Parts: sequence; C-alpha cells; structure tokens
Amino acid sequence: MQIKEKRPDWLKIKLQVNDSFTHVRNIVNNYRLHTVCEEARCPNMSECWSRGTATFMILGDTCTRSCGFCAVKTGKPTWFDFDEPQRVAQAVKLMGIKHAVITSVNRDDLKDGGAGIFAETIRQIRKLVPECRVEILIPDFKGDESALDLVIEAKPDILNHNVETVPRLYKIVRPQAKYERSLKVLDYCKRHGLVTKTGVMLGLGETTEEVIEVMKDLRKIDVDILTLGQYLQPTKMHLPVDRYVTPEEFEMLKRIGLEMGFKYVESGPLVRSSYHAESHIIW
Ligand code: SF4
Ligand code: SF4
Repeated sequence: MQIKEKRPDWLKIKLQVNDSFTHVRNIVNNYRLHTVCEEARCPNMSECWSRGTATFMILGDTCTRSCGFCAVKTGKPTWFDFDEPQRVAQAVKLMGIKHAVITSVNRDDLKDGGAGIFAETIRQIRKLVPECRVEILIPDFKGDESALDLVIEAKPDILNHNVETVPRLYKIVRPQAKYERSLKVLDYCKRHGLVTKTGVMLGLGETTEEVIEVMKDLRKIDVDILTLGQYLQPTKMHLPVDRYVTPEEFEMLKRIGLEMGFKYVESGPLVRSSYHAESHIIW
C-alpha cells in the first residue's frame, strides 16, 4: 500500500549549515571517504554534520545487495582500498568526535565480507584516538562466524547490526538477507562479550504487533540497545511508505522496550541507528 497523505509536520526538517558542517564536508572530501549520511540520503544530515559528526561508510560506495528501502548504489564493486582504515582514523581525530560510528556496504564478493577492514579500522582509531568509543554497524557477513570473530577480536565498544524490519517483509525489504541469520549474528556477538544494538524501520507495511514480536525475539538474545525510526522513501524507485507512525506510537514502543529489558531505546520519527549514537551508552 502507498500512503497518499503529505509528510506530517513531525517529519519536517529544518536545514542548517554552519562552520561545523563545512568542516565535516572538507574532511570527508580531503580524505576521500564515504558517509552513509550522504549515500543513504539521511534526513538528519544537516543536523548531524552541523554538530560535527557523521557516520563513515567503508569498503566503497557500491553494495552487492539491493534492499528495497536503501539509496546506496548497487552493483559489482571493483574497489578495494587498503589505506581506508588509516584515513578514517585521521578523519575521526580531526573531527574531534568522542564516539565514532563506522558502517559499510555489503561486500559479498569478498571472502571475509570486509570484516578484516572493519577490524583494521577499529585498530587504527584505537591507535590514533584512544579516547574515542567505536561503534560498528556491520552487515551479516552471510553469518560467517570466522568473519564475525575478526570484528569481535578487535573489540568495538558497540556492535550494531540492523534487523531493519519484521520477518514477513524480508522478501521485499531485504531480499538477500534472512531474519534468522541476523538474529544469529547478534546472538553470536553478544555471547562473545560485545554490547549489541539493532534497529527497525517502521512504515514499510508492518503492524505494531509484529514490531513487538521482533522486540521479543531481540530480548531473547539479550540485545542491549534498540533504535526505532520512520522509513522514508529515498526516491520514487524505492519501496513506498505505508504509514507515518505517530510520535505517540514511537513513545509507546520505547516504553514497552524498556519494560522488556532493553538497556536503551531510541525511538522517534527521525531516529536512525547512528542518530545521537553518542548517547546510546549503557555503561
Ligand atoms: Fe549520518 Fe546517522 Fe546522522 Fe543520518 S543519523 S546524518 S546517517 S550520523
Ligand atoms: Fe543498503 Fe546495506 Fe542493503 Fe546494501 S545491504 S542495499 S548498503 S541496506
């Protein structure tokens, strides 16, 4: 179903560009980096960059998967950049951020899915900016435990892997992913001592009851941090918005999540995994 109504007021975004925005822009360009803020057309870009923060997207700008909601370019990547971890660390240092969030495209073409580059990026940030927390938002590495071991050994402060939607919608929302496999990734990382985090988008056709069922599944594997946000269609080629979830429903889901035992729930229309990530601290 496609919603006909205009975007409600709570999704209207105030654009702001200040010196911090320009500083981030210059660093991203000068260090030849990609950000998910730009590639995924995040609605919060002007706010986050104006606060001097951004989420780096490593392993290139071309993804081997094609999720129905995602604006990142899809295709056959040809690119591999061994210097990228150092450049990300240098950018983190120059930006002066205290909580770095690193994500990537899916690289199903690589033997380890890019896990080694994630691990090296964590190590380089630790070396250059030891006081900075590192959160990684990883793909599922096709559930390969040896790839997961590489990132676990590098000890990120937070291991984030988004389940994105309810299992019934996986075929259209994440056709190359599997709900059970994503749960296994989170479970494996938790059992190996990491703080785990995941996110769900609302407005893709799921019901509130289905979202609550997903939340129960996530609590069974002791996921620590949950983000819930509104799906927004990045272009007309992407899945339509099915409904605009009200701020009141987001609040209700937050309350339910905290009652279920999540240690932190960020829930609201403009919430994304990395939105205000520096406050998702549970220790
Ligand atoms: Fe970037 Fe995350 Fe902020 Fe969006 S919410 S602009 S992806 S840091
Ligand atoms: Fe976008 Fe990630 Fe899906 Fe690739 S795997 S299309 S980057 S959401």
